[in-house]
Amino acid sequence: MKPKKEIKKVVFQSAEEMPTMPMSIGNMLWNKTGSWRNIRPEIRLEDCIQCGICWKFCPDMSIEIEAEWPVVNYDYCKGCGICAEECPAKCILMVEERK
Ligand code: SF4
Ligand code: SF4
Repeated sequence: MKPKKEIKKVVFQSAEEMPTMPMSIGNMLWNKTGSWRNIRPEIRLEDCIQCGICWKFCPDMSIEIEAEWPVVNYDYCKGCGICAEECPAKCILMVEERK
């Protein structure tokens, strides 16, 4: 039996380091996916290093950069958790949705 190949996760420190890749250039304005969510990302800005990785990885473009800081647009964020998974500073926490 072949030994299992070790899979190494690549961690980027900034959006500039990332290779060219396809990305969404807008959210579906007519489809507010925020109502799908049962967990939500909360960004601890005090630990944010302003790398832009969350902005680049969000599949719905639900993270906007305002005055160089990431801000979640909760109308469209569907709580997938990709931003929290990819944040190199681990400053995005997925918390239970408040109804
Ligand atoms: S939880 Fe998913 S949809 Fe919401 S901001 Fe993060 S990556 Fe985008
Ligand atoms: S929240 Fe995380 S991924 Fe987003 S800009 Fe800040 S450090 Fe980077």
